[in-house]
Amino acid sequence: MTSKRDALTDRPLHVGGHIGGRPVPLDGAEIEILDPTTEKTIAVLHEDSVENVDRAVRAARAAFDHGPWRKTTVAERQATLMAIHDAIMAHSEELSELEAINTGIPAGLTRAFHIQRAAHNFRFFAEYIGQAGGDVYTQEPGILSQVTYEPLGVCALIGPWNMPLGLTAMKIAGALAFGNTCVVKPSELTPLTVARLFEIIGNGVLPEGVLNLVNGSGQVTGSALSAHSGIDMLSFTGGTQTGANILAAMAKGIKRPAMELGGKSANIIFADADFDTALDAALLSAFMNNGQMCLAGSRIFVQRPIAGRFLGAFEQRVKALRIGDPLVAGTEIGPMINAAQRDRLKRYAASGLGQNATLLAGGKDFEGFDRGFFAEPTVMLAPDNSLAICQEEIFGPFATIQIFDEEEDVVSRANDSVFGLVGYIWTRDLERALRVSADLRTGTVLVNTPIIRDLRTGFGGYKQSGLGREGGNGSRAMFTEMKSTIIAR
Ligand code: NAD
Repeated sequence: MTSKRDALTDRPLHVGGHIGGRPVPLDGAEIEILDPTTEKTIAVLHEDSVENVDRAVRAARAAFDHGPWRKTTVAERQATLMAIHDAIMAHSEELSELEAINTGIPAGLTRAFHIQRAAHNFRFFAEYIGQAGGDVYTQEPGILSQVTYEPLGVCALIGPWNMPLGLTAMKIAGALAFGNTCVVKPSELTPLTVARLFEIIGNGVLPEGVLNLVNGSGQVTGSALSAHSGIDMLSFTGGTQTGANILAAMAKGIKRPAMELGGKSANIIFADADFDTALDAALLSAFMNNGQMCLAGSRIFVQRPIAGRFLGAFEQRVKALRIGDPLVAGTEIGPMINAAQRDRLKRYAASGLGQNATLLAGGKDFEGFDRGFFAEPTVMLAPDNSLAICQEEIFGPFATIQIFDEEEDVVSRANDSVFGLVGYIWTRDLERALRVSADLRTGTVLVNTPIIRDLRTGFGGYKQSGLGREGGNGSRAMFTEMKSTIIAR
């Protein structure tokens, strides 16, 4: 039987946009999509031009202004969101495999997490809008102050490549749940699962023009979308510099930005932590998703009394990580998304050595295969927090370790970053956990857990890690207009 990968290599997919309920003719500039494991072409993306982006925004505008979607009942919207959830689950095996081939992320993870999470986002928002209400205040008898949350309008949703379906689904589900219409632009590196979602949903689930897809590079399609005067908001997930470029483009109009940007999260392990659990979690947090994760705990701080033991054990575990084909069961680290990302790891390892860091593992290409953008997971012991490897987001399987003595010092080093996405704390001392958690300048703090995500809480960053929060009331703030109506009898 021909595998999915063989089939894609023999006959690459042709992928384009989807506007007003219809696929866009495949006549745009061609962008080749490579399988990062084989380096062979698996798809050709047909870039949507500035004109197509304009058509997509107009379709979304017409659907918002004149279509039924924003006036649907909560029950109708819930049914639609659940239909999308069910469609994803019905195709979860196919989507998991496609996601793994396109991103290089192990299929075990895309199956257990990425696609489940994509579907769960729709279920979560279906349930959320069944519960969420407005607010009513009384000032004096006969006067009611009412706060309601109304649909905002046309939402531009731009996604990154590292968890393409799950992170884009979070935006689509939130925007639709609150009665908006959307224009979605996935990353040009990993557009396949989002495009497949549009095919799977097909026509009939949503009114025409409510959900539109444009595809292409950031320079052409992305720029046209972020500068378009017809959007009401833009929700972006991606790199900090790209976020700044988009904010500059949006500044010509008054549009609401929501930015989920980069990170360099500190993972602080105190000597009293449960050693084995903290060790497992440090590995997962730094290397899950091939280390290509915004919330990666890539800056590990370990307290001196356990430092020697931790360094030895961590090095051993990293060297034992199974690197390989993401489609093979048991693979823990697949290839990097492209050659540039693989080479970036080597450059940072060299930069670390140049700044007196010690290489404990990795630092070079993985030589187990003739092809593929494989790199060895890398760990460096850093003398202090000022090194480029401790300050810049590398976005790959690359962890730094620093040793600390005092709580005050480690908090100050953890906060010594332009980013503020997540902070991890490992300790059995609850008072210390609460104290350090209050002092960390990050949007999320995880205590004694590497990865739990509760969608009722907001996820987002302090400082250059972002603007706004995704999840629960954070998504409501992002995707609605708050209206106050004061009623006097
Ligand atoms: P990227 O910034 O290179 O690209 C993200 C998206 O922006 C892509 O769709 C791209 O085509 C588009 N884009 C690029 N230039 C644009 C422009 N001028 N106008 C409009 N769109 C443009 O990011 P990436 O490499 O895809 O993703 C990795 C980054 O994303 C990392 O920094 C990571 O930390 C971040 N990220 C953050 C979160 C979070 O929740 N905070 C989650 C995942 C990834």
